[in-house]
Amino acid sequence: MTERRCIGCWNIKNKDDLIKITADYKTSKPVVQPNSLTFGRSVYLCYNKSCIEKAFQKNKLGKHLKVAIPQELKGQLLDELRNS
Ligand SMILES: [Zn+2]
Repeated sequence: MTERRCIGCWNIKNKDDLIKITADYKTSKPVVQPNSLTFGRSVYLCYNKSCIEKAFQKNKLGKHLKVAIPQELKGQLLDELRNS
C-alpha cells in the first residue's frame, strides 16, 4: 500500500483514496488524475470539499506544484468529487 499526504488536511492516506494532481513537466499545466504518461511534481488531496478549498487558499496548490493554477482547476477537482 502506497501512502501519500493530502496537502489540505495533512493526513496520510492510501493513495487510491486521494485525488492526484500532477504538474506536467512538458506543458507546465496541472493535470487532475493524470495517466501514467504524465510526469512532474505531484500533490494529493482527499475526496473532500474542504481539502480542495484549503489547497486553493494562499495559492497552496501553486506553491506545491510550482506552476500557475488555472481558474478552472477547482471546478475539475469538484467534478472528481461528484464522479467518485
Ligand atoms: Zn485532506
